[in-house]
Amino acid sequence: MATEAPTAPQKINLRRPEIMEAVQAQVLSHYRSLLVERIRANGNVLSADGLLTVKLAKEFGFCYGVERAIDLAYAARKSFPADKHIFLLGEIIHNPEVNDQIRNMGIQTISNKPTDEEIARLRREDVVIIPAFGTEVATRRKLEEKGCSLVDTTCGDVMSVWKRVRQYSKESVTSIIHGKAKHEETKATTSQATAYGAGHYLVVFNLAETDYVCNYILNGGNKQEFLEKFKGAYSPGFDPDVHLHAIGVANQTTMLRGETEEVQRRLRAAMEKKHGAENGDKHFRFFDTICGATQDRQDALQKLLTQPLDLLIVIGGYNSSNTSHLAEMGEALLPTYFIKNAAKMVSDKVIVHYNLHLQQEVEARDWLPSGKVTVGITAGASCPNNLIEDAIRRLFELKGVAVQELLAS
Ligand code: SF4
Repeated sequence: MATEAPTAPQKINLRRPEIMEAVQAQVLSHYRSLLVERIRANGNVLSADGLLTVKLAKEFGFCYGVERAIDLAYAARKSFPADKHIFLLGEIIHNPEVNDQIRNMGIQTISNKPTDEEIARLRREDVVIIPAFGTEVATRRKLEEKGCSLVDTTCGDVMSVWKRVRQYSKESVTSIIHGKAKHEETKATTSQATAYGAGHYLVVFNLAETDYVCNYILNGGNKQEFLEKFKGAYSPGFDPDVHLHAIGVANQTTMLRGETEEVQRRLRAAMEKKHGAENGDKHFRFFDTICGATQDRQDALQKLLTQPLDLLIVIGGYNSSNTSHLAEMGEALLPTYFIKNAAKMVSDKVIVHYNLHLQQEVEARDWLPSGKVTVGITAGASCPNNLIEDAIRRLFELKGVAVQELLAS
């Protein structure tokens, strides 16, 4: 008996004007902050003389990629009938409050890399949302084979990295990706390096790892030790004696700009020393794939940090890469507290904040100086303005000032 060919999933235009109008109204009602807008209009400063001055970085919070992903997820819920099952791969973005909102709308979460069991449970009439940082090639293929309708919210800046890595792969150039090997975006990117050719990849996280690789390129070393050190961060079959002959550097979109430039500079220097500067192009490629939003937020914070501040509050999800880098920039210069919401400012004596080095929340005491204080505030690309407003209100509250009165004066 002839097998019936699967019909293509139903294509729905989510960006219909009537849908987008309703979506934008809903998104604003969930995440907008009039207070933040007023402070922005007031030169990014709100001050209660003699007690507390809050200074916001010029760029912070939701980026275009995150806004688009949220809009599309909301539009999916509005476009498909209420009884249609909609699933999200992992998190839409790295912010717990935003993910809670998405779940409250009846969108169910499955693993970012669904198991075969999870895939088997999906039905072809289901809808699956791919988050802003994308998904691995194999996951996408499985969903397509299943016939589910996909709502792909992958940010265009992430896709630019994929394009670059695919190009390296086609030219048998190994992709060296500056990023976090376990981050969803980097996993999706590395899957692109191996999916369309015989490409390889290696993920380096920091300058110490970069130096290790450079030393191996120049002097060779213990292959087993290399493979052990980078376990989970290279492609199947990767051999440092073979696959570091021609390399191309790319980066996770949300890394620290200065560090990425240094990774690139050190690897280029090693390759030129090994193969001669005249052969540089044959053995080394580089393409800066830090996204504009990450760059703008880092630049704005750098500027804010040139002003006299007593402390810095960084707001965002703890698994957000771009937010962690903002916190790193702050803690290099002044007391910095990375918090996911205002409730973490327990009192003027106690704050619970995320310690990047311990990778867990810790409690700090006597964090808010008495007397006159100037506090800098920034937030990652996945943090909505309403959470920033909560933090500002809490700070003034802890200093005994009602923001409402301040705005009225
Ligand atoms: S942080 Fe950059 S790459 Fe990530 S969603 Fe925003 S714009 Fe896109």
